Amino acid sequence: MLSTLKRIVQEVNATSDLGQALSVIVTRVKQAMKVDVCSVYLLDPASDQYVLMATDGLNPASVGVVRLARGEGLVSVVGETEEPLNLDDAPAHPRYHFVAETGESYYHGFLGVPIIHHRSVMGVLVVRQKDQRRFDDDELAFLLTVAAQLSSAIALAIVSGDIRGLAQAHGDSGLKPIQGLAGAPGVTIGTARVIYPATDLDAVPDRQATDIDAEIAAFHAALVAAREDIRLLEVHMGESIAEEDRALFHAYSLMLDSPGLERQTVERIRAGNWAAGALRDTIREHTRVFDAMEDPYLRERAGDVRDIGLRILARLQNIGGQEHVYGANTILVGEEITVSMLAEVPLESLAGVASVRGSTFSHVAILARSLGIPAVLGLSELPVTRVDGSELVVDGYRGWIYVSPSATVRAEYERLIGEEQQLTAGLEELRDLPAVTLDGIHVPLYANAGLVSDVMPSLRHGAEGIGLYRTEFPFMVRNRFPGEEEQLRIYRQVLEALTPRPVTIRTLDIGGDKMLSYFPIHEENPFLGWRGIRVTLDHPELFLIQLRAILRADIGLGNARLLLPMISSVGEVEAALKLIRRVHQELREGGEDAVLPPIGVMVEVPSAVYQIESLASRVDYLSIGSNDLTQYMLAVDRNNARVAELYDALHPAVLQALTYAMAGAQRAGKPIGVCGEMAGDPAAVILLLGMGVSNLSASVASLPRIKRVIRSFSVAQARDILDQVLLMEDARQIRDYVNGVLEQAGLGSLVRVGQ
Ligand code: PEP
Ligand code: MG
Repeated sequence: MLSTLKRIVQEVNATSDLGQALSVIVTRVKQAMKVDVCSVYLLDPASDQYVLMATDGLNPASVGVVRLARGEGLVSVVGETEEPLNLDDAPAHPRYHFVAETGESYYHGFLGVPIIHHRSVMGVLVVRQKDQRRFDDDELAFLLTVAAQLSSAIALAIVSGDIRGLAQAHGDSGLKPIQGLAGAPGVTIGTARVIYPATDLDAVPDRQATDIDAEIAAFHAALVAAREDIRLLEVHMGESIAEEDRALFHAYSLMLDSPGLERQTVERIRAGNWAAGALRDTIREHTRVFDAMEDPYLRERAGDVRDIGLRILARLQNIGGQEHVYGANTILVGEEITVSMLAEVPLESLAGVASVRGSTFSHVAILARSLGIPAVLGLSELPVTRVDGSELVVDGYRGWIYVSPSATVRAEYERLIGEEQQLTAGLEELRDLPAVTLDGIHVPLYANAGLVSDVMPSLRHGAEGIGLYRTEFPFMVRNRFPGEEEQLRIYRQVLEALTPRPVTIRTLDIGGDKMLSYFPIHEENPFLGWRGIRVTLDHPELFLIQLRAILRADIGLGNARLLLPMISSVGEVEAALKLIRRVHQELREGGEDAVLPPIGVMVEVPSAVYQIESLASRVDYLSIGSNDLTQYMLAVDRNNARVAELYDALHPAVLQALTYAMAGAQRAGKPIGVCGEMAGDPAAVILLLGMGVSNLSASVASLPRIKRVIRSFSVAQARDILDQVLLMEDARQIRDYVNGVLEQAGLGSLVRVGQ
């Protein structure tokens, strides 16, 4: 059963739309389970009906026609209970509902399993048998597994519009956002432009051919060029391979010459798809035939067909065609949008970025933030190949996108964009005003930065300094460890640009999701592994170079502060302090006028919260990294879109931990700030003010609105609000309450835009 299952999954993955995928499933499941019928019903949320979407065994004409209202028939029983239903005599069940159109009169055995995605029932997969028969455990397990595999494919299809008929036939309420990770703030509406690497045929999008003859000509030229490539390869390998192995090249040439390949691709172009999309489908069809073969040798030939497809694709890309045209309001979309892809688009055309891979900390996110372009990454459920040319809404605050948004969604976002423009204009006046509460407490506002290009915008937005300079970024954009002089130049540039304002330079924080290509770390569980200070203490040679560079860069300026990441015990602080003091002493002994900068630790691991006083007594200041602290308190991976709904810094447990840490630091007489994304969230900022936070450091774009919050409340008011919130048990309730407070204070636009 396992190998059958694998084969079905492979086949389903090779299909290009939901209809095909469902028909593969019903046919293969019927064969594998030796049943008389296999059918899939999908729930249309708008009409609340289960629609028969595919069947092998029932009357094919009933597909799309048969609809069961929720509550009707055995399919509904499975949907309601969210459990399998296994009956040897279905018609004897009190909820059995006979449907004439399907011609199902004689079936007794029934096994139905729910298709569930993200906790909601999307449909039901059913097998039927003429005889009375109860299905055994293995069969049940098999069907459940198929249904589980099917669920994400269906979710994708709904999003991409394959079964939009289901949702849209009944109004547009069925369109939901695709959840990803907020990469760069802002909201925008534009047209998707899918970019794909020449090495991935499956990433080629569908695209309407604008000039069919030109596409056919481009395909023919690519085919000729690919044939020539193979011939040259064969010549190149020459005598160095055996005659029988050279047959491989002949086989390739034969496949390239196959009339099917050419004819089918041209037919697909004539049907409207561009050459690359048509080629993708032809290659898929051919590989499917090989993949389905029992003979392992022949099955392997599927790989050759894919390889040939890639060669033609590479040639097609060189030949060009529709590739490099970027219209106004382009939203760059792809499996993995890279910095160089982004850099290729003229800035005046670029409206947003949406990428399947990547996280808030990807280079492309950092670059997008610097450019002020909204970006959503980690969109694991984005059907990349099917959205080219579609209208997209990118919500870089929430980490959502909408594909072909409904009229209501679109109108709402147009309103938000308008409000945001107004808000930005209004906030500009705040730039030179101090971040002081109504009762006169100054809460310094700093910016987070990672690249030198982040530094100037932070000054333009009124930052009083850099509260977190992530040094891993200059390390990430190189292809080897930067040396002492190289680092010194980078740090000096930032310190000089900001002087006399403080710059908090965090020592190298790699590991987790921040990898250096030239220093790979392979771990089962990287967020709980070799990260931050753990790496640098194990590699003092790297740490010492960085410390020397920072202390030397600070000579004559004196605005550097050192910050140690991922501290989870007192021993780590002591070991780091020893190395810092050693560097300081060595520099002085060498005649350099280095000073020992203020040293702080990041509080981003729960153990640091509960040892706050011990840590505080050893350093000059503390800085809460709420991004990691939230992830470790709640055991929710900060980069995993699947659990993103569980990630909330306003969770009562996180707020309790923060309150505890702030009180501890205050008892120890040391300043404590917050430098995670939470510091840029208006609702969170009120609560942090109530806790007595010493300073806030947030992404540049959020600084003006945070200043507005600080200037609108007194610390005494914030304390009262915090007291109320600490009695609450649920993050949603807390957010609603604090948002209500913001509304009452006339800051509703801060809640609506960017929340
Ligand atoms: C944090 O964890 O909150 C933090 C500021 O550090 P980083 O996001 O770089 O891990
Ligand atoms: Mg962190």
